[in-house]
Amino acid sequence: MSYLVLARKWRPKDFEGLVGQEHVVRALTHALSTQRLHHAWLFTGTRGVGKTTLSRILAKSLNCETGITPTPCGICRACTEIDSGRFVDYVELDAASNRGVDEMTSLLEQAVYAPVMGRFKVYMIDEVHMLSGHAFNAMLKTLEEPPPHVKFILATTDPQKIPPTILSRCLQFNLKQMPADSIAQYLAHVLEQEQVSFEAGALSLIGRSASGSMRDALSLTDQAIAYSASNLTLEAVQGMLGSVDQTHLIRLLQALCDNDAPEVLAVADALATRGLSFKTALGDLAILLSRLSIHQHVGAIDDEDATLNPEIGQLAQSLSPDLVQLFYTVAVHGRQELSLAPDEYAGFVMVCLKMLSFSANRPAAEKKTLKSDPNPVSPSEPISQTAPVVPVESVEPNNEAVATAFESAQEPESVLAPVPAPQAVPEPAESLAATAGADDVVGQWPVLAAELPLSGMAQQCVLQAACLGFSNDELRLIVPTDALAKGPHLDRIRQVLAQRYGAEVKLTVIVGEVGAGLSAQWFAEEAEKARLAAAVQTLDEDPFVQALIQSFGAQIVPGSIKPVTASLNPPNT
Ligand SMILES: [Zn+2]
Repeated sequence: MSYLVLARKWRPKDFEGLVGQEHVVRALTHALSTQRLHHAWLFTGTRGVGKTTLSRILAKSLNCETGITPTPCGICRACTEIDSGRFVDYVELDAASNRGVDEMTSLLEQAVYAPVMGRFKVYMIDEVHMLSGHAFNAMLKTLEEPPPHVKFILATTDPQKIPPTILSRCLQFNLKQMPADSIAQYLAHVLEQEQVSFEAGALSLIGRSASGSMRDALSLTDQAIAYSASNLTLEAVQGMLGSVDQTHLIRLLQALCDNDAPEVLAVADALATRGLSFKTALGDLAILLSRLSIHQHVGAIDDEDATLNPEIGQLAQSLSPDLVQLFYTVAVHGRQELSLAPDEYAGFVMVCLKMLSFSANRPAAEKKTLKSDPNPVSPSEPISQTAPVVPVESVEPNNEAVATAFESAQEPESVLAPVPAPQAVPEPAESLAATAGADDVVGQWPVLAAELPLSGMAQQCVLQAACLGFSNDELRLIVPTDALAKGPHLDRIRQVLAQRYGAEVKLTVIVGEVGAGLSAQWFAEEAEKARLAAAVQTLDEDPFVQALIQSFGAQIVPGSIKPVTASLNPPNT
């Protein structure tokens, strides 16, 4: 016995077998039982949703030897011949390849003759929107005064391209894309009948990959049967579709959550070594993020993929809902733009790093509680040089986040310079020499550190360090990491200090926790937060932005706002 592919073998032969198009079936069944028959139907819908299948069932209903019926017998000559594509009075024409006026004219010439065997001549014109203008005109005449024995079934994926004169003469039905779980259910039914073993997860994956098309789903199932030697496990189907094991994606999201760039790249490498498609990976990531978002809003989902719920639950707690939304947008757009990337790996990595930068740039209040300093001090020069320019009339930075660190240091600025201007600052030392030996080096260290002419590791070291003391020509610093505490960069710092101080300076660097308000970096970060908060507030108060939000549903993506530096953008008068 020859093998018949599933898509053909399981093509529904009656209205009852048609999955997911109940609304169309109901209307047609009613028309057939009451014999109120239109002479032209138009079926619209994306490919593979069942337009041709529906057309054949309708042709049988009209021509079954048992009479016009919503339940054709399936065994009479008309029924069997239509099923096998041999019925003389049922003509399927593909307008994509027969789009000219000549083909249409010869078809319509045949239409005037009475049917050879059946009750009606049924013409099915697929992809009807492809017909030329002349062909449409030729058809229009017949549609206006159709012979009583002629029925037209038009099908299209693009109804917009059909002239309104034609549309107005058809009874239109829009066939829906089949939901993934309906497809999976139907596949389970098919495989039970075919006595093929399967895992539910494998069928959900096929259901999702088929994008609403039952025909594609059945073809994929056929391939999966061959690929997996008749044992449809999730793993086999993932392998066949080149789809990505969710654990990689969970790992990726966890790394994004932890701000762990090396781990993000490690996941990309892991996908590359397995030869998996990055396009599919981004698609799967978007699906995972949508599950994550649903989880955040309504709780755990109970379906075939429910095994992932614990991991998703954990991520749902660590990532804020709007960050999940943002990741989703980045994944979807990144997937679309993957073809523009020099290669898929580079494209994928850039998408991940983009997410990482959004994740890393979250306003501090959202990721962790802002450190509050009862006696805020701010260095003056190095930081206020990069004042933001925000195009508004005036801004009063009274945001909470600003208030914490800069409460006493704020003053509303006028046009084009809403800078949180730090004021309550200790007088910066001119140089180490000026204050050598003085205890207040500790307090002024952040300013001094920012002034030292250093770069690279040496600069990072002094910027991240707090000063523990300066006495007897010994400068004692505390830094947050081992890497900063030792290495050749310390010599460079000694050199620069000696130049400044005019004598050898002994440098001692230890590792430990650098307290808030003690390092130059802390101030730089606080200033950045304040500028960001001011920029956010400016946007919040901007009437134009508000108008966009109200009129067009625009949304400001949290974390995407960046203050512009003054030096790059001098204010215009
Ligand atoms: Zn029949």
